[in-house]
Amino acid sequence: MTGSSSLRERERLIFERSSRGRLGYQLPALEVPSLDPAATLPPGLLRGEIEGMPEVSEVDVVRHFTRLSKWNYSVDEGLYPLGSCTMKYNPRINEEVARLAGIAQLHPLQPEDQVQGALALMWELEQALIAVTGMPRVTLQPAAGAHGELTGMLMIRKALSDRGERRRTVLIPDSAHGTNPASAVFAGFETVEIASTPEGTLDLSAMARQLEGGDVAALMVTVPNTLGVFEPEIVKAAAMLHERGAFLYMDGANLNAFVGVALPGKMGADALHINLHKTFSTPHGGGGPGAGPVAVSKALVPYLPVPTVEKAGGRYTLSSDRPKTIGKVRGFYGNFAMLVRALAYIRSLGRDGLKSMAEGAVLNANYIRKRLEGDYHLQYDGPSLHEVVFDDSLQAASGVKNVDIAKRLLDYGFHPPTMSFPLIVHGALMIEPTESEGIDELDAFIAAMQAIAREARESPELVKGAPYTTPVQRLDEVRAARQPVLRWRRAKD
Ligand SMILES: *Cc1c(COP(=O)(O)O)cnc(C)c1O
Repeated sequence: MTGSSSLRERERLIFERSSRGRLGYQLPALEVPSLDPAATLPPGLLRGEIEGMPEVSEVDVVRHFTRLSKWNYSVDEGLYPLGSCTMKYNPRINEEVARLAGIAQLHPLQPEDQVQGALALMWELEQALIAVTGMPRVTLQPAAGAHGELTGMLMIRKALSDRGERRRTVLIPDSAHGTNPASAVFAGFETVEIASTPEGTLDLSAMARQLEGGDVAALMVTVPNTLGVFEPEIVKAAAMLHERGAFLYMDGANLNAFVGVALPGKMGADALHINLHKTFSTPHGGGGPGAGPVAVSKALVPYLPVPTVEKAGGRYTLSSDRPKTIGKVRGFYGNFAMLVRALAYIRSLGRDGLKSMAEGAVLNANYIRKRLEGDYHLQYDGPSLHEVVFDDSLQAASGVKNVDIAKRLLDYGFHPPTMSFPLIVHGALMIEPTESEGIDELDAFIAAMQAIAREARESPELVKGAPYTTPVQRLDEVRAARQPVLRWRRAKD
């Protein structure tokens, strides 16, 4: 407790450290006559003193931000078991390749004959994703998974309107990620939720009832689903949809579970987004760039965003010759540097490496599942793949909730798992260790989770008061989201 409050006292804002006249740097005197800004800029663009600008020394700045950076937690520091997010380690080779001058210094307006290497790289990544999905073409443009969903749903809408149809309904299982219904609505559809079976999988008969109306445009389903459970009837579901002229949108965010093992194309997917920042180890943004390529079936190929990279006679070109395209979904070609990182990862692992990556992810999740199943409750106890969803019902008697367990994990030095998702599991704790972790790190995490389960039984108040070792304790998360204080203002005296 004391450690953290003294930390808090010590770390004042940079504005509060300001002291009049203190300098962080000095510029040499100008050797040329200086321009009078007032003579060169329109008066409306000029401003006087910047109010409250901190005046601090260089060492003040460096120490302040270095201390703040240590409050952060990253996958370079330890296990990051956020379920569904696939927070795997980002190998440094990816960064090296993305920083090569010939790649990093490209300009998107350079003519095609100067960027053959970059086009080859995109073409090669597309080929790799075609191999991984078993689907005929892939667009690399979308900037994230959710953006890929929107892209896929727009292609489905265009394909339907080409047939002269205006179907409105998109079916979405209740275990879906929140981006699925959001993307469907963005693309102009209405969503109907389908309750999962007691095993946590897609309810085919519920889907069949919805299909009878003839208004269903698509089913959006995550495979394996957000419980980490493979959809055993996915092939049948695809056939039922196709028979009714509807499409299968597959959310591929969980591709990490079966890369190199199974092909979504064979399962009947018409559109599938791939989160390069999950499965293929490009960094998760923190608001920064991601990449969500979309693989499509033959039926949707005509609707792909333009331009696409084409190869003919050893030359690569950007082609916009696609009359039915939905157009562009992103400036230029998407987040190119992320495509480079993903290809570096794919090439360094190779086909066998990718397969053992998926197998490692599944093994690690099942190891945690087995070791913790006595301490934490499993609502769905059938076989699962790359992630495992526990809940807090064994802790209910002592009043300890999933949020308390998550906060207490911070004291043990771990990032908490995903909480309260999927929504069909009350008090969910969704753990996805990924294949990056070795047995020592997994054992340390398991030991921490077991210790917390023991604390919840023996001294629940301790768990409910956590965390004790972090710079800030429990925050009012709703207020932080609804009424954020984002600007410092000088105290009025
Ligand atoms: C992460 C995720 C998404 C959204 O992907 P973003 O890249 O975050 O936009 C969609 N569905 C599932 C199942 C996910 O895990």
